[in-house]
Amino acid sequence: MKDKPRILVTGAGGFIGHHLTHRLKKEGFWVRGGDIKPPEFEPSAADEFSLLDLRLWENCLKVTKEIDQVYNLAADMGGIGYITANHADISRNNILINTHMLDASRLNGVSRFLFSSSACVYPQYKQKDADVTPLKESDAIPADPEPGYGWEKLFAEELCRYYRKDYGMETRIVRFHNVYGPLGTFEGGKEKAPAAIARKVALVDDGGDIEVWGDGEQTRSFMYVDDCVEGLIRLMASSYDEPLNLGTDRLVTINELIDLVSDVAGKKLRKQHDLTKPQGVRGRNSDNTLLNQVLGWEPSIDLQEGLKITYKWIENELRKAGRLTSVEAGQAAR
Ligand code: NAD
Repeated sequence: MKDKPRILVTGAGGFIGHHLTHRLKKEGFWVRGGDIKPPEFEPSAADEFSLLDLRLWENCLKVTKEIDQVYNLAADMGGIGYITANHADISRNNILINTHMLDASRLNGVSRFLFSSSACVYPQYKQKDADVTPLKESDAIPADPEPGYGWEKLFAEELCRYYRKDYGMETRIVRFHNVYGPLGTFEGGKEKAPAAIARKVALVDDGGDIEVWGDGEQTRSFMYVDDCVEGLIRLMASSYDEPLNLGTDRLVTINELIDLVSDVAGKKLRKQHDLTKPQGVRGRNSDNTLLNQVLGWEPSIDLQEGLKITYKWIENELRKAGRLTSVEAGQAAR
C-alpha cells in the first residue's frame, strides 16, 4: 500500500469517475474523489470525497495536495442537445477546470496527470458520411472540432503537451468515444444517446412510438464503461504521452441502437424521426490501430451485452421510482 500512488479522481461524482473510483479501490489504491456533486445513485467508494467547485483555483490547489496521480474527469458536459445549446458555459467552465487543475497539479508535484478528452476534437469535415473512415489520432489537426466542447478539449490537450514540454510534467491524454453503462444520468438533458434511448424504450408500451433525433442513420461506436475504466488504468500506467483513442470500432446507426435496446426490452416500437433536433456529426468511428500498439489491448465488451446491463439498470431505477406501473400494467393485460 505504501508504494502505491495516492490517486485523485476529479468528476468522481459523475458516471465514468464513479466507476473508476470503484475499480481503483478494488485494486487497493488510496483514492480521493473530487466533484461539485456526490454520485447520483450510490455512495462513492473513495477514501475521501471533496465536494468543491473545480473552476476555482484555490479548490484545485487544495484537492491536489499529497496526490501522486490525477485522473481529471471533471467537466461540464452532456449529450448532443446539451453541448449544442451551451457553447459559452461549457467552454468557460471546462477551460477553468482544466487550466487550474493542471497548474495546481504541477505546483503540488503530481507525478502523472491524465486528461479526459473526447472524439469531439476530430474535424467535422472528416465526419460528413454515415459510412465514415475511422478516425486516427493524427486526424485531429488541421482542426475543425465540435463547436465549444470540441475546441476546449482540443486546447486542453495542447495545454497538457505544453506542460510536458516546458515543465517536464508527465501527462496522459485519452479521447473517449461514447461511453455507456449503468449508474449514469439517464434524464434531465445531460444524458447521452444510449441512456436516453433506454429510458424512452422502458417508458413506452410495446407497439408504441419512440422519438428519434434526426433520421437515425447517423453512426457512432459505443464503449461499455468497464472497458473504459480498464483502458484508463492501462494508459495511466503506460509511458505513452500523446493523445490516444479509447473506444470500440463497431459502427452502428442510432436506428440500429434503438433496435438493439428494443430487443433487450422485448418490445417492437415505431420510430418517429424528429429532423429538427440536433444529431451532431453524420458519422464517427474510432481507429484503434494505435490503441492496440500502445496498450496491447482494446475494448471488447459486446454491445448487446453492455446494452442489456444498462437497460435493465435504467428500467429498474424507473420501476423503483414507480414510473413503470402503467407500462407494466398495459403489458400484463395483453
Ligand atoms: P459526467 O457528467 O457524468 O461527469 C462529469 C463530472 O464532472 C460530474 O459529476 C460533474 O458534477 C463534474 N463537474 C462538472 N463541473 C464541475 C466543477 N466545476 N467542479 C467539480 N466538478 C465538476 O460525465 P462522464 O461521462 O463521466 O465524463 C467524464 C469525462 O469524460 C469528462 O471530461 C467528459 O468530457 C469525458 N468524455 C465522456 C464521454 C462519454 O461518452 N461519457 C465521451 C467523451 C469524453
